[in-house]
Amino acid sequence: MKLETSLRSLKGVGEKTEALFSKLGIRTVGQLLRYYPRDYDIYREPVPIGQVTAGGKQAVSGMVCSQVSVKSLGPKRSLVTAKLRDDSGTLLVNWFNMPYLRTTLKMGGVFVLRGLVAEKGGRLVMEQPELFTPAAYQEKLHAMQPIYGLTAGLTNKLVTKLVAQILDSAPEWPEYLPEDIRTEAHLAEYNFAVRQIHFPRDMEGFLAARNRLAFDEFFFFILALRRMKEKTEESPNEYPMEAVWKTEEILAGLPYRLTRAQQKVWGEIEGDLKGKKLMARLVQGDVGSGKTVLAFLAMVMTAENGYQSALMVPTEVLANQHYQALCELLEQHGLLESYRPVLLTGSLTQREKRRIYDRVALGTAKMIIGTHALIQEAVEYDHLALVITDEQHRFGVRQRELLAGKGLTPHVLVMSATPIPRTLAIILYGDLDISVLDELPARRLPIKNCVVGTSYRPAAYRFMEKEIQKGRQVYVICPMVEESEGLEAENVLDYTEKLRGIFPEGIHIRALHGQMKPAVKNEIMEQFAAGEIQILVSTTVVEVGVNVPNATVMMIENAERFGLAQLHQLRGRVGRGDHQSYCIFVQGKEDQEKTKRLEILNKSNDGFAIAAEDLRLRGPGDLFGVRQSGLLEFAVADIYRDADILKEASQAAGMVLDLDGELSLPQHEGIRNQLQAYMMREVDNLGL
Ligand code: ADP
Ligand code: MG
Repeated sequence: MKLETSLRSLKGVGEKTEALFSKLGIRTVGQLLRYYPRDYDIYREPVPIGQVTAGGKQAVSGMVCSQVSVKSLGPKRSLVTAKLRDDSGTLLVNWFNMPYLRTTLKMGGVFVLRGLVAEKGGRLVMEQPELFTPAAYQEKLHAMQPIYGLTAGLTNKLVTKLVAQILDSAPEWPEYLPEDIRTEAHLAEYNFAVRQIHFPRDMEGFLAARNRLAFDEFFFFILALRRMKEKTEESPNEYPMEAVWKTEEILAGLPYRLTRAQQKVWGEIEGDLKGKKLMARLVQGDVGSGKTVLAFLAMVMTAENGYQSALMVPTEVLANQHYQALCELLEQHGLLESYRPVLLTGSLTQREKRRIYDRVALGTAKMIIGTHALIQEAVEYDHLALVITDEQHRFGVRQRELLAGKGLTPHVLVMSATPIPRTLAIILYGDLDISVLDELPARRLPIKNCVVGTSYRPAAYRFMEKEIQKGRQVYVICPMVEESEGLEAENVLDYTEKLRGIFPEGIHIRALHGQMKPAVKNEIMEQFAAGEIQILVSTTVVEVGVNVPNATVMMIENAERFGLAQLHQLRGRVGRGDHQSYCIFVQGKEDQEKTKRLEILNKSNDGFAIAAEDLRLRGPGDLFGVRQSGLLEFAVADIYRDADILKEASQAAGMVLDLDGELSLPQHEGIRNQLQAYMMREVDNLGL
């Protein structure tokens, strides 16, 4: 089976299933194979019955110690009940609609049962467990069943079956890493890795698979970057610029003075734009360190020198916000008419888009802000000299290649709040010059944090009401949009309703989530920014970049479900103005390990310190932790946890390129093809 084959050619995939998969961005067999499980259901050693607890899935081993009863619950519906005993206790077990179990479950028979345990009427009951003889369970022991990320309508069983179907039929695809690299880095073969990541034989198989796939992700990421770097180093600055007075005027007109860190970084950017080589710079600065104004200054300098610049961001909400802020700034200095900034996003109508394309192509629009719509085929630029990407490292990388494909080689500035320790940043972004904003604006009061259980909510609501009375605003974050079966987490829609019942009429509460139409999202965000909404109940769509300095309370429900870096980003939505701000982390489920991790956030507001501490706490064994952050989207690799693999991949990439910069040697053919496929996928991931 070819990797490009459409999912439709699989047995059991019709139009409906195809549509569900396409929601997950999966259209081909190859894409499904790269859709790795997000977790595994592991067949562990049975636990003593006396230690069984309500909640999770557990296995117990024991003897049937009662007559099995079968109760009829109506036509074709029945309830089988048995009791299982071991040295430590007895456990009640239920099965629905499986009356034939009566003959299997003889009194005195010994079995292993594996299932969910619930508390019912004060007693623990295991429900609908799988049933094994001890010998059969021994065979299964340590097996890992994949658990996939799903969307409503798609079952784990179906995804599992389809992956198995592909793996059964697929011809072995070629290994593309030369043997010497694999030996050097102790890597499993690719086809072994793909099989094992879906259906690990055991923990060892899984680890081998994971290492190999993480290596590949880093390796191709780094190769792509290095190849680009060579291109830039050869590239002279075709858009030489001069420093301009307008930027000084704008600086003088700001309601604040730049921090020393901002001044230093602005100096570096200005120097690059005036320099002999093309700029390729990463600006790293913690949330709230003031990156946006630097982007605007660079855009003004570019426009004053007669060129165009583009600012690209990951979400429409953020694009809209930056656009408003830029227009306001230009207006104050009478520059709106001469620069004519435009906003270009995917949700514009074709007509609106065409109008904007025209203005961009003619060069009347000197500044363009938007999402990835900015680099869509149809957009032609007049004199594009500078591209800035905000809050998305990888965007910067892909987009550069795309622009190069259109014959454009602008200066590139990448701005990011994802804290990456400098040593790792140099490996990952070795091709970029790195500037660090290591200082927050002076007058900022540190955010006050607390980690609480759900019983604290009434107190939190009273506190929020007080802040609102003072004129401030509040974010409440829930992990889900709506109620979903099997997942116990707060959702935006129900939570909004609940809060409306609790808070007085005059307080406006609105819901915001990613499934809304972009225009609706923007409208709500604008109303929130204008202070017309007091409480915004939202998913993580506000995670990156959103700036409403008047908001002072961030309450995060089910905080245990988010990665620390992500929580830090969310918290960064408050504490952006002069008022004291607060962050309330609500734990849905108390769990010591997770409490410990939240405590890190409770104690520190420093993104870099948090990342380092998170890494230390997690240790190498914790492979299924919540993902670090949505911002550095590797599928299996994690730059913190896999720092060693990252270094190895970086060395390997360096060796390959030193030997064969063009990847033209026969032994590198596999790498060359794979790199090309990788770049295409990256473009694909942009959703173009
Ligand atoms: P981030 O680095 O997270 O993108 P922003 O650029 O959005 O941060 O800035 C956060 C807030 O801080 C904005 O309201 C901005 O106007 C303000 N700000 C930026 N620089 C300074 C400064 N030097 N002093 C005071 N406030 C500043
Ligand atoms: Mg920002």
